[in-house]
Formats: sequence, structure tokens, C-alpha cells
Amino acid sequence: MKVVEILKNAKKPLFSFEIIPPARGKSCNIITDIIEELQQFNPPFIDVTSHCSEAYYEELENGIVKKRIRKKRPGTIGICGVIQNRFNIDTVAHVLCRGFTKEETEDALIELNFLGIKNILALRGDGSNHEKKVDKCKSVNTYASELIEQIVALREGKYIEKLEDSEPMDFCIGVAGYPEKHFESPNLKTDIQNLKLKVDAGADYIVTQMFFDNKHYYNFVDLCREAGINVPIIPGLKIIKNVKHLSFLPKYFHVDLPEELVNQIESDPKNVKKIAKNWGLMQVKDLLEKGVKCVHFYVMNDAKMVIDIIKSVK
Ligand code: FAD
Repeated sequence: MKVVEILKNAKKPLFSFEIIPPARGKSCNIITDIIEELQQFNPPFIDVTSHCSEAYYEELENGIVKKRIRKKRPGTIGICGVIQNRFNIDTVAHVLCRGFTKEETEDALIELNFLGIKNILALRGDGSNHEKKVDKCKSVNTYASELIEQIVALREGKYIEKLEDSEPMDFCIGVAGYPEKHFESPNLKTDIQNLKLKVDAGADYIVTQMFFDNKHYYNFVDLCREAGINVPIIPGLKIIKNVKHLSFLPKYFHVDLPEELVNQIESDPKNVKKIAKNWGLMQVKDLLEKGVKCVHFYVMNDAKMVIDIIKSVK
């Protein structure tokens, strides 16, 4: 089912999850174990992240160092297929602009459609240490709004090249939103205008970047509504796991950590997990009390703390 239909039909609070493909060479069992743990909550949908190729350097036996290009975390499409068809849970495949040509994207969408996957989170992606060369005859999407246009065209059966007997592919399209603004945007207002471009291009819903103070989410929703963005806005939450996260999360995700949360953890670092769980629980309860229909958890590859939180809410 499409995410927007799931949200429309929701009779009780929903908890959705986002997982990350295992590193290259690792088994898919890592993922199936997590899904088995999460199944008890009847997840309405599970997102699977996507990653572009990176350059790495390998020293050969003769001492020569060779540059190689690889995808550190391959397998988004395969994992989506397993979750959708083995576990019967709706899956949202993340699809990126950066690192992929439009032609590769079209092929990926065809494969997802074959697997019965009806939901895409359309993203630009971030810079990689490897700039992929693009053939003159191929094209790329620069912003997520262009990727959305490509996916929307497929709803009408418009493929890059005219194909005989081609059938339309109807995906529900989610996009990213940033309650504390995207790091490249000069201000939140400009970022929301760019978010509106994505919605006007055909995005059906928004999932937010993680935030640790709900006031950022409520303010963001108000500003989006004022800007004429009327699609559902699903809050995304991440639960801090260790003290290193206090510097890692602001650095990589450009989010602010509330002074109170930081003080609590710094004054009692041994109990970081307990403090973070209580904080997350407080955020979830407040969101649900304010009428939020679905809370999305960035689980990545460890669901334990999230599971404890959901059990405490129920
Ligand atoms: P866009 O919407 O294209 O925006 C990027 C920047 O450009 C913003 O500052 C925006 O304001 C600006 N902009 C947009 N359109 C225009 C325009 N027409 N003219 C000028 N400026 C414009 N990354 C991954 O690599 N893999 C993942 O699986 C992944 N999953 C994510 C899931 C969620 C819920 C979120 C919030 C982020 C995720 N990301 C992921 C990170 C994301 O790729 C980065 O945050 C990226 O920098 C921006 O992606 P976007 O789709 O928001 O970009």
C-alpha cells in the first residue's frame, strides 16, 4: 500500500522505521534479524537507505596503490524486495540523484516496480569523494525536485526513451524536510520554498530530518502550512546511543542538541542510553498527544532502544 493511504487509514499511532543496508560483504541476516524484532509492532512501512559509490585506495603486493570505486553499502533494492515479499511489510526505497544517471534511476525504478514496491523516498544525496563521469548521451538529476519529475512522468508511462507497450508505474513519493533547515540553505524560509518545489513537482508526503526538540518540528509544520505545503509531514526521530553522538550528530546531520539533554548525558555518561531513551520517550509522547499519526525512527542497524521506547508508549 502507498504510504499516503496508510496514513489516511490509520486508526491508531503508527511507528515506522528506517534501516541501512549492511556493509559490503556482510549478510542480509543482519537486516532480517532486525525486521523480526520490529515485526511485533506491525510496522506500517520500513525505509531502506541508499548509498552512492565512494573511492578507496588499495595497496597491491608490488607496493603500487590503486584507486578503486565501490558502493560501501549495496543492496537497497534487494533488501526492499526481501522486506516487501518475505515479511509482507510495505517498503520505501530511497532513491538518490547523486551518483546515478537518470537512466540508472529508471532501471532501478523498473526493478522496484517488479518487486511490488510502491513507495520511493526521492533524495538528492550528499557529496561523495568520487565524482562519477557521465556519458554525453546520459543525463542526471541535480535536485530532488527533478528526480520527482522523472518519477511522476513514469506515472503517465513516460520513460526516458519512447518504449513500445510500456506501462505506467505509479509510485507514492516521499521527500526529505529539515525542521532546522538543510545545511546548504541560507535560511529556513528559503529551504521551505525549495521544499514546496518538491511538493509542487508531485511529492506526496515529507519525512523530517531528526530533531531533538519538538518545538523545531511544530514550527516547521506551521511554516510549511503557511507556505501552502499541505501534504503529511512525518516526524523523524533518532535515539542517541553513546556520548560520541553528542558531537557526531550535529556534525553530520546539522541538528542542534538541547542544552538540557547534553547536560544530563555529560554529567552521567555511564547512563547515556537510559537518559536518551527517556528523552526519546518524552518526544514521542508529546508528538502523539499533539495528534501526530506516525513517528518515524532512524533505527539504522540497531533497534533495541527504539523497541524499549515503543513498548513504554504502548
Ligand atoms: P534537495 O531537496 O534537492 O535540496 C538540497 C539543497 O538544495 C537544499 O539546501 C535545498 O534548499 C536546495 N535546493 C533544492 N532545490 C533547489 C533549487 N531548485 N535551486 C536552488 N536550491 C535548491 N542521503 C543518502 O545519501 N541516502 C539516504 O538514504 C538518505 N536518506 C535520507 C532520509 C531522510 C528522511 C533525510 C531527511 C535525509 C536523507 N539523506 C540521505 C540525506 C540527504 O540526501 C541530504 O540531506 C542531501 O544533502 C539533501 O537531500 P534532499 O533530497 O533534501 O535535497
